[in-house]
Amino acid sequence: MSAFSLAGRRALVTGANTGIGQAIALALADQGAPVTCAGRRDCAETCAAIAAKGGIADEMILDFADPMAAREIFVGAGYSILVNNAGSIRREDSLDYTEADWDAVMDVNLKALFFTTQAFAKAHLDRAPRGPAAVVNIASLLAFQGGIRVPAYTASKHGVAGLTKILANEWAADGINVNAIAPGYVVSNNTENLRKDADRNAAILARIPAGRWGEPSDIGHTAAFLASPAAAYIHGAVINVDGGWLAR
Ligand code: NAP
Repeated sequence: MSAFSLAGRRALVTGANTGIGQAIALALADQGAPVTCAGRRDCAETCAAIAAKGGIADEMILDFADPMAAREIFVGAGYSILVNNAGSIRREDSLDYTEADWDAVMDVNLKALFFTTQAFAKAHLDRAPRGPAAVVNIASLLAFQGGIRVPAYTASKHGVAGLTKILANEWAADGINVNAIAPGYVVSNNTENLRKDADRNAAILARIPAGRWGEPSDIGHTAAFLASPAAAYIHGAVINVDGGWLAR
């Protein structure tokens, strides 16, 4: 079997209704994983796209308005791949940033990510026998850079990078690979306003060595790799998939 195969590995992707999460779900299914597409709204479009390619998918409502929402979902369910993709951003000058803005972003991007991962790992470690498992966290270039007018987002994504490392340290010996992807500028709802702003769009494109925005599938393929046996010796890495942005 190919070292890139995910055949028979049950996966769950958060925020799988659209954008990067949708592409990740498709990429995992392409490698043979049965995928649960989780979202705070239905993931019918993603499930249909997977089914159309002959893959296996189901869907689950998972709303991180309650950051602990995933605490029971992995029990006895046989998942061995978790992709923490759901994320939220609020843009405002730091002087005007409110507690509500801060909490809304941190709850989804960091608190929910940690407790979802904890629930996944507990369920996996209770399995007997248990095979390999993988957690892929979706970070950001703002796990490395500061950005501007996005204080909670930047803090949360630096936090995602940190959690990726500590959880890898704790669980590598148990056969759980924990890694992260730091996407560059990717075409999705998250970046719609940036792409609509002609000046920002031109400035961003001029700085990307690859000369194009990222596609959600660029991230999907990397996630499928990190979840696979081909990445078995990768632990605690934060891999930038950014068209070369951070190399500049
Ligand atoms: P997106 O289209 O806005 O997708 C974000 C996903 O997170 C959506 O499924 C969204 O659901 C979900 N989400 C937000 N709040 C949620 C909540 N309270 N509970 C459950 N799900 C929630 O943007 P995207 O670009 O695909 O973002 C995916 C991930 O990539 C995020 O973690 C983001 O920070 C990261 N990222 C994106 C870029 C980029 O350039 N696009 C760059 C770096 C990192 P709804 O559709 O219901 O809102």
